[in-house]
Amino acid sequence: MENRVSAGTPTWPDRLAAEYTAAGYWRGKTFGTLMWEWADDRGDDTAVVDGAVTLSYSDLAVQADALAEKLLGTGLARGDKIVVQLPNCWQFVVLFFACARIGVVPIMTLMPHRDHELVHIARHGGATALATPSTWRGYEHEQLAHRVGEAVPAVRTLLVVREDGAPGTPSDGCLDLTAMCIPAGDADERRKKLDESAVSSRDVVTFLLSGGTTGLPKLIGRTHDDYEYNARRSAEVCGFTAKTVYLATMSASHNFSLACPGLLGTFAVGGTAVLVPTPSPRNAFAAIERERVTVTALAPSVAKHWMDTLAADPGRFDLSSLETLQIGSARLATELAKRVQPIFGCRLQQVYGMAEGLLCYTRLDDPDEVVDATQGRPMSPADEIRVVDSNGNPVPQGEMGLLETRGPYTIRGYYDAREVNAQSFTPDGWFRTGDIVRVHESGNLVVEGRSRDIINRAGEKISAEEVENHLYLLAAVQHAAVIAVPDERTGERICACVVLHPGTGLDLSDVRAIFAEIGVAQYKVPAQLEILDALPLTPARKIDKKTLRERFSEKVKAG
Ligand code: AMP
Repeated sequence: MENRVSAGTPTWPDRLAAEYTAAGYWRGKTFGTLMWEWADDRGDDTAVVDGAVTLSYSDLAVQADALAEKLLGTGLARGDKIVVQLPNCWQFVVLFFACARIGVVPIMTLMPHRDHELVHIARHGGATALATPSTWRGYEHEQLAHRVGEAVPAVRTLLVVREDGAPGTPSDGCLDLTAMCIPAGDADERRKKLDESAVSSRDVVTFLLSGGTTGLPKLIGRTHDDYEYNARRSAEVCGFTAKTVYLATMSASHNFSLACPGLLGTFAVGGTAVLVPTPSPRNAFAAIERERVTVTALAPSVAKHWMDTLAADPGRFDLSSLETLQIGSARLATELAKRVQPIFGCRLQQVYGMAEGLLCYTRLDDPDEVVDATQGRPMSPADEIRVVDSNGNPVPQGEMGLLETRGPYTIRGYYDAREVNAQSFTPDGWFRTGDIVRVHESGNLVVEGRSRDIINRAGEKISAEEVENHLYLLAAVQHAAVIAVPDERTGERICACVVLHPGTGLDLSDVRAIFAEIGVAQYKVPAQLEILDALPLTPARKIDKKTLRERFSEKVKAG
């Protein structure tokens, strides 16, 4: 079978692709085709609400076509990649579908990413374009875009959205993305022309970023076939219908809000997606009241913040339209889970998954005690999971072990990452998630922790190794070990344990200064600094992070 998935992305064996297609998991449709099917079916229904801007399904298709034509006009073509750093805004949605229509592949990044991350991502991904806001929450992204363009000359096309979403006049060398979405000329003609674009459903539709264990993020190529199934099956399991009003409050460029079921799952069933730029309770609660939102997705730390806000001012906000609150992306404490229904007056759904694929959901009809205490079970009958020890042997039922998985929407390897792939995937295609889980008596999974060295700060995954590498740029640092310690507000925080060269000193402001100097995302800056005479070692003479974690987590509890 012809395989046209973008080069560099390992793919499923043809035998499995045929099976997944025969079983109806893969439908052989691109998001560009679907976008028009939806528009033809439910033209005037509202697809997107972003503040005062409302797009019907027809508007979305017509605007995406207009933008697609303009993107082609800049010289972009099928297989080209565009780094996308946009907040939740209607232009993000139009850009996603415009790219899907012509086979240009967005690489999704997060708003806090700075020079260090964007340059790496653009270079590693071989991107030729970049989309950013002009400014965002006081930061000059347009200037950042120019710096990325200088560092990575292949990035020639810079697309800018004004922070207020209106058309604007960007600086020299940048194009106004908002203006490019405004349709002109004959929409039917354009549709016909774009229908001829040779995009295959086996192509990569988007690159997501990995949580990152080895320094900078790896690129996760998701195909039209597998990602469409990801969104459609999620919508089915989560009971989404045409009446669903989904609020995207966490970043829409993250898998959770994009496709679990997120925006794409909402569109798959003809619902409405409401976008807010930040998960601040004030914004989100106003949008829930105004748009009668039925479901939203949050990281546990944000859910806790929302709960505290509601508890502090009971009766002030009308969230009665909410039917389901999805919480995931980091472990939700059972005690907190139990408070969701009484405080929000809606049911809780726990979500455990990863941008690499596998998604587990508690089901809407699971008993309360199962919803509160587990992170759900795989959504697809074709998901394979196994729980193994460090030698790869299955552990006895109910015991903790490492989760491995494969299936119709779990990738078979990261983009252009031969060595990492050899570690993260078995030769027969199982993805080693690095998560430690056990199977609960209900059959659902409980996530107990992870074997990989990652800090999960409010759902943002930070590689300890990357932070250590930055710390070594400080002249005073002789040894560095970065660990996660529990944090009231963010779930986990970054704690840097360092040994200094004799006669030197260091405090957190020095650490902040070096991170700012190299242009690293703010959320990766350690919040806690511990200076030690020596780092504890294991018998194998590796740094004993377990001891460090115990020592400094205790300190947090005691403090
Ligand atoms: P990401 O690819 O950014 O979605 O991160 C995926 C990782 O987040 C998983 O491998 C887990 O380590 C963690 N994670 C996601 N959801 C949960 C959850 N509900 N409970 C515990 N950890 C989670």
